[in-house]
Amino acid sequence: MMAYDDNNVFARILRGEIPCKKVYENEHALAFHDINPQAPVHVLVIPKGRYVGMDDFAHNASPAEQAALVRAIGETARLLGVDKGGYRTLSNFGRDGHQEVPHLHFHIFGGRRLGRMLEGGRPPHTA
Ligand code: AMP
Repeated sequence: MMAYDDNNVFARILRGEIPCKKVYENEHALAFHDINPQAPVHVLVIPKGRYVGMDDFAHNASPAEQAALVRAIGETARLLGVDKGGYRTLSNFGRDGHQEVPHLHFHIFGGRRLGRMLEGGRPPHTA
C-alpha cells in the first residue's frame, strides 16, 4: 500500500495552509472546486482522514467516515445542480489510474455532455 504523504496538497488544504473554494463540508468529508477544471462543473470530494486510495479507505476508514464520503458526493452533486442533467464521478488511483494527488478524492464532472467512459481507451479484444 502506498504510504500517506502529509505534505500532499489536499492535506495542506485540510489543515488550512492553502485556500480552497468550498462547496460542501460534513464531519468527515470536504468538497471544493478543482483548480484546473476539465468541465463547466468540476469539483473534488475528499475524506478528511489520511487515506491514499479506495482500498486503503475501505480497509481502514470507520463506517461513519465511509458513509460521510458517500453522502458528501451525493449532496455536492445536488448543491451544484448537476443531479438534474447528469454527471460523472471518477477516482484515480496509483500509476495506472494516473493519480496526481496521493489523497483519496472523487472528481465530480458535469455541465456538459461528457462522452463515453475513457479517453484513449480501446476495446479489450484489440489489446
Ligand atoms: P488526480 O490525482 O489526477 O485525480 O487529480 C488531482 C486533481 O487535483 C487535478 O484535477 C488538479 O487540478 C487538482 N488540484 C491540484 N491542486 C489543487 C488545489 N490546490 N486546489 C484544487 N484542486 C487542485
